[in-house]
Amino acid sequence: MKSAQNFLPDFSHIYIEDGAEKYPLAKDIIKRFPKAEKIYIPDYKTVFNRSGQDFIQQKKSMNLILAVKKPPFLYESTDILQDAGFENFVYTTPLLNCLYNCQYCFLQGMYPSANLVAFANEDDFFKAARNAVLQRKNKNQPLVLSISYNTDLLASENIIPFCRHWIEFASTQSDILIEIRTKSALFNVLKNVKPHKNVLLGWTLSPQEVIEKYEWDTPPLDRRLNAVRQALEKGWKVRLCFDPVMIIPQWQKVYGRFLDELFEAIPVDQIYDAVVGVFRMNKDFFQRARKREPKVDIYYKDYELNKSVLSISEKVHEEVKTFMLEKLEQHFSLDLIDIW
Ligand code: SF4
Repeated sequence: MKSAQNFLPDFSHIYIEDGAEKYPLAKDIIKRFPKAEKIYIPDYKTVFNRSGQDFIQQKKSMNLILAVKKPPFLYESTDILQDAGFENFVYTTPLLNCLYNCQYCFLQGMYPSANLVAFANEDDFFKAARNAVLQRKNKNQPLVLSISYNTDLLASENIIPFCRHWIEFASTQSDILIEIRTKSALFNVLKNVKPHKNVLLGWTLSPQEVIEKYEWDTPPLDRRLNAVRQALEKGWKVRLCFDPVMIIPQWQKVYGRFLDELFEAIPVDQIYDAVVGVFRMNKDFFQRARKREPKVDIYYKDYELNKSVLSISEKVHEEVKTFMLEKLEQHFSLDLIDIW
């Protein structure tokens, strides 16, 4: 297990793609790291996609790449993403990679590099989001936009203030709901940001045993709960995410105790909704991640393959659904629970 940290990474190098430095976000970030060596590059992919990079080693000392995103800015939902029943569900990727190091994370197999890529042209993303609102299929529902998909955006908010900018954007729009999913305890970075009904903060919560075993570098459960309580007190919409429920020895006992304690610790009647999922990963990402020799048991178990996605057996998956539903139903009405 690695200990949780209060992250403020000290980038030794910042790579800057041609054209990125003119954006206010890039200027702001560069100012925060006066000691970092600036390296100018023609295209972020020349650094990020280089072959032969050591992902695990890079994770220990990440560098930052500032880049300019080219279209597309939004992506349709995938088989792996939870849409919580919303029909107009899309996601976006203002930041690639994550300060945290969850051992079950698909990023380990998705990208050739563990370095962070921050796209500085935020207005292009906002324009794409505005267009997607207008073009959404079901006009009776908002556009639901996950902005923290390939990363944990709130975890890096004190170095790259994406969340604040997206919240400000969403607050000026109608028919949009942005979801910021996080394991961060850094709620303080949003303390001066006004809550808005168009923003949903989703906290991923796990038993402390699971955090220690698999969610490396993330804050412990008590600090995440503290952040949840603070967010509720301020009036934010808060979603609880139990995803993935990990099948560890005596998982029912561990998760049962965890949920009982959790619902004692927070005002559950103020929670917006809850989502539940199990470990799942695209087969190719899984194989690439396993080749990188992660030292956890996740990559050495038997899984079932369904439409290119590896996951736990259908039988155990059903057991998880039944167990979690039974526990959550004690606190949430059925329409507020989304179980995968
Ligand atoms: S917080 Fe999310 S994106 Fe970051 S490493 Fe963990 S699972 Fe991956």
